[in-house]
Parts: sequence; C-alpha cells; structure tokens
Amino acid sequence: MNSARPNANRQRGGIARVLLVVIALALAAGLYLAGNEDAGRGLKKQAQLKTMEVIGEAAARRMGQGGGGAASHGSAVDLIRRPIEVRRIADNIHYATGVGNTVMITTAQGNLVFDTGLVLQVAQQMKALQAVSDAPVRYIVLSHSHADHIGGAKFWAGEDTQIIAHEDFEEEQRYLTELEPYQYARNRILFPWMPAWEERPDLEMMRYGGVVPDITVGDWERHAFTLGGIEFEVIGTPGAEGADNAVLWLPREKILFSGDFFGPQFPQFPNIFTMRGEKVRKPVEYIRSLDLLLELQPEVIVPSHLEPTRGAAEIRAGMVKIRDAVRYVHDQTVAGMNAGKSVYQLMREITLPPELDLVQNHGRVDWAVRSIWDYYMGWFRFESTTELYPVPVRDIYADLAGVAGNEALLTLARTYLNEGAAVKTLHVVEVVLAGDPGNSSALGLRRRALEMLLQAARAGLRNDYEIYWLQARLADTDARLEGGR
Ligand SMILES: [Zn+2]
Repeated sequence: MNSARPNANRQRGGIARVLLVVIALALAAGLYLAGNEDAGRGLKKQAQLKTMEVIGEAAARRMGQGGGGAASHGSAVDLIRRPIEVRRIADNIHYATGVGNTVMITTAQGNLVFDTGLVLQVAQQMKALQAVSDAPVRYIVLSHSHADHIGGAKFWAGEDTQIIAHEDFEEEQRYLTELEPYQYARNRILFPWMPAWEERPDLEMMRYGGVVPDITVGDWERHAFTLGGIEFEVIGTPGAEGADNAVLWLPREKILFSGDFFGPQFPQFPNIFTMRGEKVRKPVEYIRSLDLLLELQPEVIVPSHLEPTRGAAEIRAGMVKIRDAVRYVHDQTVAGMNAGKSVYQLMREITLPPELDLVQNHGRVDWAVRSIWDYYMGWFRFESTTELYPVPVRDIYADLAGVAGNEALLTLARTYLNEGAAVKTLHVVEVVLAGDPGNSSALGLRRRALEMLLQAARAGLRNDYEIYWLQARLADTDARLEGGR
C-alpha cells in the first residue's frame, strides 16, 4: 500500500500533462472552426470524447496498479477495472459494461439509450455500442440523476433526441450540482480512482448536470410509447437511490431496465441510506414502488451496474424479499422509537430474520435504521442539551486529555483494544489526538483498531462503503505515522 503511493503520484503528474495537451488541441480546433459552428461543435465533441478516453484509461490503470485490496463483489474498485465491452441481451438489445452500464435498444426507426454511464467511460462505451448500430438516438431514458448514469447524456443526444426522466430529475441535479465540490471531496475518499478536483479537466460537456428532460414522469406514473414497433414504458419509482428514480419496462419482452432501483446486485438489502451522503431516502415510497414493479412480473432484470438477472420466479422471490425486509426494518424502527429506545440501541438490536436475510454489501440494515429515524425525527435526539448548540464534544477533547493525561488515556485505549472494542478504542484515541495530533502511540492504536474493524467488515457484511472508508482512514493513519518519522 505504502510503496504504491509515490507511483500513483508520478502517474497522476503524467495524466495531468497529457490532459493539458489534449485540452489545448481541443481549444485550438474550436477556435480554428469558429466560423463554422456545426463543424466546430462536432469537433469539440470529438476532442472532448478523446480527452475522456485518456482520463478513463488512466483512472482504470491507476486502480489496476494500486492493488485495492480484497474488494467485495460489485465494489467500485472492481467496477472501474472492468473492461468495457458489449454484451447482448437480445438481437436488438445490447449494453456496454463499465462503472455504469449503458444500454442500447435498436429499432427500425432509430435507437433508444437507457442510462449513459460515467463521463470518464463514455468515449469507450459509445465506440463499443456504435459498432453495433450508429443509427440516430431517438430517446434517452435516464434512471436518475447520479453522475454514473447521466455522464454520456450530452454526447448521445442529437438534434432530435428526446430525453425522458423523472419529474424530480432536475431538482435532484440542482442540489447535486450546488453541493458538487463538497460531495466530490467525499466521494473521492471512497472512490480513489476519481481524478483530484483541481486535476479534473473542466470541459463544458464533461461537467456534471445541465441535462434537461423533454418528457417527465411523476411518482408511480407510467409513460408509454412505441418506437419501431417496440413498446416502451418509463415508470416513476421513487425510493431507493434518490427521489428521481425511474425504470424502463418492455411489456412485451417482459424486460425491466432497473437503473439502481435494486442496487448493483440482485437481490440485496437496498441503499435506503447512502453513507456517501445525500438527501434522506424514503423507505415507504420504496415499498410502494416495489409493489408496482411486482405487478409487472418481469422475466429479466437489467440493472445499470453489473449483470442481468433472469427467471420470473427468482426475480419475484427476490423482489418480495427486498420489499418485506425493508418493511420489517421500517416497522421495527418505528416500534422501537415508540417504545422509547435510543437510535443506537435500535441500530444494535434490529437484524433481519433468517427468512428475510439479504446481503448487505451495498445497503446496511443498521444504517437504514438510523436513516429512518432521521427521516422521521431529524437531527435532535432529545438526549442532551448540548445537541442544540454548535459546541460538539470534540471541542473539549484537548482539555480532557490535559486533565486525564495521555498515559492514562492510552492505557484505557489499549484495554479496549484487547477486549476487541475497536470503536471505543477510536473514541479514546480521538481524545488524545485532539491535544497531540502526532502522538505515535495513539496513531498506532488507531491503526490497529481500524484494522480490527476492516477484518470484521471483510469477514462479516462485506459492506463496500464501510470497507472503502476504513481503507481510506488506514491510508491516512499511515501517512501521519510516516510524517511523524
Ligand atoms: Zn449508480
């Protein structure tokens, strides 16, 4: 892990230089063709596609060399390493793999594209799919406003393309755009293959947001249309992965293009909360959306991450299980709140019964419990007066360490660690580090506590987000320990 860092830095420098050359070329071409707007725009698109290809390949290479550790199935690290290639679902339905899949349905009257992947991978995905058909794109259907689904929308859209999305799509894009610098910094901790904010090429077409749908669907609304003899339905399915979820349904073929509605794997406990940070998601709406999708009786589910699932019975069983698991967690949380239990108590107590057991590598039950609590009650837990004021307990850590003495605190931290109480160890270590940020004994204990948590995460739920976070904190701890030497 340590030895990979200088390489990664050198490589990033190289990427930045290549980008500058490509961007300079793109700008020169744009100026040269200023008199001919259409040609200029076409060339600009091409130049930007080329730029994205270079960055995309560099990002994949960086992760390929970084080691990345034993990421679990469906992890972001695995996703960026996946080769971009075309897979066939039917003669007229293909998708390009990537961090986010891009689906293309070809018809005699032009094509429909469902979700458009990550901007870093658009160039490769477009090239791959246009080898199957380069007919005009008549419709682009976007499952939601996340960056790994709308990255290519501006590139796929032609003069006459109609974009279809949920009616909240623009509002979700608005808040994600307004908070982009903050969210970008958070995401980059979890997804280290993202280029640094200052190093990302700031090209108009690559910027997040600005995608305006021509047709929208409301919650649980169905928009039906035909193209080239194929029947399509876009359905608003709010709940998991944001308020603006929509799916694409082919009623005759019984194929459901689910975007992120189920998460990257099927079935799994959904991300009704994402620790990356986002607006709170609504579990009861998700249950209602699931009921609607159950009525459709899909025979194939094509998600926008990883592979399709086939088989009406298997799909039905999976959907029922997801719905009942979410309902169970919701109802248990509400019952616990009414019984006067604390949110932490409920996070510890509520677990899925065996018949509803689902993998939790994407969404987690305990985080969902906390999210449901917050969704209904907000941030004030009525536990302490201090919650009401902008003076967190951390503000007294340094003074506390001064009174208690580092030796006594470190002895306590070691005791906790020996008892396997990794989180309590971290609490004490944070008190010591508040007064003495470079304390190597405290940092060493922090390292061991994080490793203990990482080991437990890998042996237990294998939750990707938890694993990414712990890996990032371990790297940060190592950097501090090295800096102190
Ligand atoms: Zn996604």
